[in-house]
Amino acid sequence: MRGLERARALGFSVVDGLRGSPVRRQIAELDAVDRMAPAERLRWQRERLAEILAHARDTTPFYHDRIPPRVDAQTAPEVLGSLPIIDKRLIKDRFDEFVSAAFRRVALVEGHTNGSTGAPFAFYMNRRRRDRVRAETLFFGRWTGYRVGEPHVFLRLLFWHPKPVVARLLENQLILEPRGLGSVEIDRLLRRIRRSKAVTLIGYPSVLALLARRRLEAGGPESLPMRSAISIGEILLPGARETIERGFGCPVFERYSATEVGYIAHDCEHHRLHMNVGSLWFELLPPDSGTVEAQSSERRIVVTDLFNYGMPFLRYELADRVRPDEGACSCGRTSPLLRSVLGRVSDRITLPDRRDIEATGLGGIFYDLSAIRQFQLVQTAPDRYAIVVVPEPTFDDETRRTILRRAHALFGDRATLELSLVERIAPLPAGKHAYILSTVDRRGESSPL
Ligand SMILES: [Zn+2]
Repeated sequence: MRGLERARALGFSVVDGLRGSPVRRQIAELDAVDRMAPAERLRWQRERLAEILAHARDTTPFYHDRIPPRVDAQTAPEVLGSLPIIDKRLIKDRFDEFVSAAFRRVALVEGHTNGSTGAPFAFYMNRRRRDRVRAETLFFGRWTGYRVGEPHVFLRLLFWHPKPVVARLLENQLILEPRGLGSVEIDRLLRRIRRSKAVTLIGYPSVLALLARRRLEAGGPESLPMRSAISIGEILLPGARETIERGFGCPVFERYSATEVGYIAHDCEHHRLHMNVGSLWFELLPPDSGTVEAQSSERRIVVTDLFNYGMPFLRYELADRVRPDEGACSCGRTSPLLRSVLGRVSDRITLPDRRDIEATGLGGIFYDLSAIRQFQLVQTAPDRYAIVVVPEPTFDDETRRTILRRAHALFGDRATLELSLVERIAPLPAGKHAYILSTVDRRGESSPL
């Protein structure tokens, strides 16, 4: 560590220390929970669950009559299971009923999700929960080799400044906004990353992969060595992981988080996704019977935040589907694992023969084609698909034939496939990349377009 970084690390300790070390103490707790034997951790989680259930019953209108007068560590999971599963839409509709009366509103921290699916969403958390999210950032950051005070680049679009300037200075974070991703903009971003001397890159994998691809064209990662890259906000396709690893000469870590509930799961050094059992209680439920996914290993993911006393999120369903993983990780942590995050239900297409195509499957068409800069699949009718591609200069007829051959193998012979080349693919409102879009109404829901 160099002098300035040491000063920043010290500065962080001093600022946190003046406040009674809330972040440091929560890191210690996350660390302790992480090392507990499974039975001990379950007991610890049940106690936290009983506490937040009693708090919600006593202070949060939506839960007044839904939680019984007596709830303890023994009965907490059963009580929780009797509560309705909630989601963004319900909270938006009945917002005031979900805010705890234990805090004055001005004492709560207001958060916003960025509306990447076109549905911006506001919520509250109490300050202790906000500190816990900071603790999670440092705790899981350590798994990637990150230490507080080290320079890192966050590639994201900003809608407001998420943190006070002092906090960002102490954290040594440079935020770069990836607006427009032509070669000129990408080169500018790469120059700024190099100047920043960052050791860690955090961003959407689609953006990181574009930068990495450019690095590879320019002759390898020698002049831009990174210690780690952290993938957030989108599905991490195997091809993208490999491109980022080669382009920046560093391992890629998947970080699964949501603004409203903090860190959900994080890659360890062995690149397996550990669930954040130190802050969340997890329920992985089979999809509704009758749907295509009901037969597969996919699960709905429902979380209960054990620490947001400002606005209890009890049985909150995230829009994603996940696959759980069995067994233990060789890193020694005993927390349960996810095999993969499959992304949102809207990130997929159901074929007429009832098979599902999701982004990871689609990635199989493109993973080794270096002549493709970006791709997107748009379903325009139940059996009609547009494959939209941003080509590299090396794109040729052979690439076109390969894509169509693989796509036909995936979609079946009855599908009508059209391949079109475009200069750019418009990102979603938050700057995320959608691999799959459908203009066809599914299950009576309105389409995302
Ligand atoms: Zn592990």
